[in-house]
Amino acid sequence: MFIPDPEQEKKAIINRYRSLLRVWTLEKPEDKKVIRKAFNLAVEAHKDMRRRTGEPYVYHSIEVARIVAGEIGLGRTSIACALLHDVVEDTDYTLSDIENMFGPTVAKIIDGLTKIKDIFDRSSTSLQAEYFKKMLLTLSDDVRVILIKLADRLHNMRTLDAMPHDKQLKIASETLFLYAPLAHRFGLYAIKTELEDLSLKYTEPEIYSTIYEKLAESLKERKRFISKFINPIKKSLSQHHFTYDIITRDKSIYSIWNKMKKKEVPLEEVYDLFAIRIIIDTRRETEKVDCWRVYSIITDHYRPNIDRLRDWISIPKANGYEALHTTVMSHEGHWVEVQIRTKRMDEIAEKGYAAHWRYKEAAPGLSEANINNWLERIRDMLQSSDSNALNFLDDFQGFLFTDEIYLFTPQGELRNLPANSTVLDFAYAIHSEIGNSCIGAKVNHKLAPLNYKLKSGDQVEILTSKKQFPRSDWFDYVVTARARTQIKYAIKEDKKKYIEQGKSKLREYFEQINVEFNNHKLKKLQQKYNYLSMTDLYFDIAHDLIGIKEIKECCGTPDKESWLSKVIFRPFSKSKQSDHKTLTETVMEKLKERDDSFKDNKNIQKISYDISSCCNPIPGDEIVGFIKAGDAIAIHRTNCATAISQMSRYGNKIIKTKWNDKESIGFLTGIKINGIDKKGFINDIMKIITENFDLNIKSFHLECHGGMIDASIMLYVYSIDNLNNVVRGLKEMPDIKKIDRINSL
Ligand code: MN
Repeated sequence: MFIPDPEQEKKAIINRYRSLLRVWTLEKPEDKKVIRKAFNLAVEAHKDMRRRTGEPYVYHSIEVARIVAGEIGLGRTSIACALLHDVVEDTDYTLSDIENMFGPTVAKIIDGLTKIKDIFDRSSTSLQAEYFKKMLLTLSDDVRVILIKLADRLHNMRTLDAMPHDKQLKIASETLFLYAPLAHRFGLYAIKTELEDLSLKYTEPEIYSTIYEKLAESLKERKRFISKFINPIKKSLSQHHFTYDIITRDKSIYSIWNKMKKKEVPLEEVYDLFAIRIIIDTRRETEKVDCWRVYSIITDHYRPNIDRLRDWISIPKANGYEALHTTVMSHEGHWVEVQIRTKRMDEIAEKGYAAHWRYKEAAPGLSEANINNWLERIRDMLQSSDSNALNFLDDFQGFLFTDEIYLFTPQGELRNLPANSTVLDFAYAIHSEIGNSCIGAKVNHKLAPLNYKLKSGDQVEILTSKKQFPRSDWFDYVVTARARTQIKYAIKEDKKKYIEQGKSKLREYFEQINVEFNNHKLKKLQQKYNYLSMTDLYFDIAHDLIGIKEIKECCGTPDKESWLSKVIFRPFSKSKQSDHKTLTETVMEKLKERDDSFKDNKNIQKISYDISSCCNPIPGDEIVGFIKAGDAIAIHRTNCATAISQMSRYGNKIIKTKWNDKESIGFLTGIKINGIDKKGFINDIMKIITENFDLNIKSFHLECHGGMIDASIMLYVYSIDNLNNVVRGLKEMPDIKKIDRINSL
């Protein structure tokens, strides 16, 4: 057995500690004292522990601190926390020991780190998801927790060789799934790239080594090419008195692999295997102009591809990245990507979020607002997500990879939102009140509806009305968690207003039917009419959607549920099926109460009910019925304006209705198609509707102008699903640009 020499090991630990101090520039003399104290405690606490490699455990703590200091660029508190990050979890020291020695801030961060301790030994996905959710909850307390966590993960990935194979795979895929994207979001490019490459090394070892070897093989050739490429640029930069650095970076193995997969090409054809980075040292005030001057110098020598020019100086990326990217054609016929940035921008690109703190005073910039904005959205998401951690994980994954769009307020203020955000999302991003009263917007001075999808660069002026109020169909109009939470909240609050009104109305009803009003009866009502909450029940009573008739039906007879009946009759009484009534059944039931002639009529088609032409409901739509004169029933969609106004006036004539799943008659509906005029266009549409879906068309109206076609088609469908399928089928035609349902025929 290998027995380490304790003296030598002590020296080695001290050496590592010194190298930690070297990567970090001291700001105040007392900084070093704190670090030293943390170091001493870490050494003492971990003194009997070893890593899998046999090395003293504290090596890991020091290395994590070194990444935190040198590669992320964080300061004293974070370095101390990194040194101590495994102390509470793995040793006898407690959080209050830490608090006594280092104060509340350090203790809080350590607490966060302890809570999100790696779960290498647990296996179930939901646990993993639960853990990740916890991690993000902590993240929203103090960003440093997540940055230290990333450093911890990076060092574990660097030393993954010592782990058994199954754990390597698990850790590597987790890293690829969560940590690399997270590093990306914080602008830590170098760390993100290393995490990705290391993950690939363990998940796809053969691919990794093939690419690795090919890169090594071609190294000489690339060096020759690069020096030939940059020579003229160097000369010109010096002539223009620039202080600069030119760095060439190979594309990461992971990104090469990704490109090969995406384009389905062999390694040789992934042309831009490297990028050239020009870093200039210049004053803050002139950096933008200077970067463009460098651009101009480069394009004097090489022809640029205009489509691939990226200006992230005027508008930085959401994670704070700033640079000018261009792709130019070399004299040897290869495209070469050239990145132009200043020293300051370079530090931000390498150290991400942390670097912003350093420049904070100089210019409290857009980038920082972006990060804060992003963190705020995480918090929103955490608040709005339900208890299901797996759903949340999906949401978050989507969120990490979603692109951002940039939008402007009428005052020219910049806002960024996730891609696919709508007018309503934008309104809620500004303020919950603005969201709640939003009726639409002017997007680039043109009117746009609530669900209009915004594009980068749009200028959005929200239009509001005091009469507006959030409705449940608004959930379909938004993509951001913030908007969803606010809508949910507003609807709930609104319903609460009616509790008292509903309650007193209900008391009255009970008095009228001469039955005692108690909690038990309330429960009975709730069950019978399928209400999720009492608030909903009171709301419907207040709005006369449930009246004295329903109350009587449910509670009009004396209570059978005495203690005696519970004991004696329960075993014989049938459990009541929850009643999912079809439209037919509900309508029938209502009519039975009103007119004897309908009593034995089982066929809905013979009942006189009208499909209202103002909104043309079809099976699958949410609907409501109104009892009209002569006992006919008018069916409306619940979001129909006529229905809404009628509901408020003739509440007692409303019946809640539902479609039967198996309605077999065709319902007239209409769609509006907007597309490019091409030969066979109409024929193709007809074919899809009549042949593929076997539906009947009632009318077809067509207008052509300027190469565009507007078609209105009236057709008979069986249900909303049926209609949606047709629309989906039509959308597969490349020349169709837009399809809308026609509400009023
Ligand atoms: Mn650790």
